[in-house]
Amino acid sequence: MFEPPRCPYLSCRFHDRPSERFYRRHGWYHPLCRPHPVARFRCRACRRSFSRQTFRADYRHKKPYLNAAFLRLMVSCVGLRQAARFLQVARRTVERRFSWLARHAAGFHENRLRGRTIAGPFQLDELESFEANRYQPVTVPVLIERGTMFLVASGVGPLRRKGRLSPRQRRLLAEHEARHGRRQSRSAAAVREVLGRLGPLLGPQGPLVLDSDHKPLYGQIGRALFGERFVWQRHSASARRDRENPLFPINHTNARLRHWLSRLRRRSWCVSKRRGELARHLAIAALWANYCRGITNRTRTTPARALGVTERAYRPEELVGWRQDWGALSPDPLA
Ligand SMILES: [Zn+2]
Repeated sequence: MFEPPRCPYLSCRFHDRPSERFYRRHGWYHPLCRPHPVARFRCRACRRSFSRQTFRADYRHKKPYLNAAFLRLMVSCVGLRQAARFLQVARRTVERRFSWLARHAAGFHENRLRGRTIAGPFQLDELESFEANRYQPVTVPVLIERGTMFLVASGVGPLRRKGRLSPRQRRLLAEHEARHGRRQSRSAAAVREVLGRLGPLLGPQGPLVLDSDHKPLYGQIGRALFGERFVWQRHSASARRDRENPLFPINHTNARLRHWLSRLRRRSWCVSKRRGELARHLAIAALWANYCRGITNRTRTTPARALGVTERAYRPEELVGWRQDWGALSPDPLA
């Protein structure tokens, strides 16, 4: 039997500090989307009523049964339109569910990491993609814990198109810049934001070891953020990308992100129209990769389990179960 842990209304004093028996039972209702009746409760302080459903992440969803399947599709190299066809719902439904799932994934990740320390070492690299067309490239810094391939953070920032261009491409780039203005590169800001996410995860002392390629930006930002604690280990980016390569974990992580996310596949018809959508998709991928999927195909141990952040692997249904938008007061995903 479900026992509400707190009043779900943020303005109520029983939200932060619920007393014992802060609620009374208040009958049942029959939701259209579920076969069984759901118990209702009434708060003794604010007198408002709520139900078990108020604590669920799919609160107010008309089709909550889509969520776990949709999560699986979003890490199976399926585009949003194809996901809508497969689930037999409108494209708009899938688009809304995509934004909701990304917000939920970010909250879930943040809540699991609250108060934790991760010792590292860490690895960082940027992969490149684009938004809308090839004249609007983006950089995607990805930060992992080296031993477990736990995805700590990722970001997306705009880049200006560089590299060798054919005469036709130069003309198209000039036309594009005449129309939209010269595109600013924001690689440094994106890397700083991603590395900055390590701040609250570090213990009180000890070195912060970061593996990366030789890009000087990483050293500058790491020293600026973490000072003497920052230990930068540089490795050749041109060495053969096999298991012997010291950067194998981050290379492999980025290769897997390209494999899972349709919009990151090379030579694909799928493309990010706006970089914010790519950032949202990465949050969804991290939810699945860290908390559900085994580190390799041969193990059920997830990166989060290996790091001691969670007790076991979650099923997709559990990942999208309880709401995670109340910070530290969010329900335990295994409750
Ligand atoms: Zn209340």
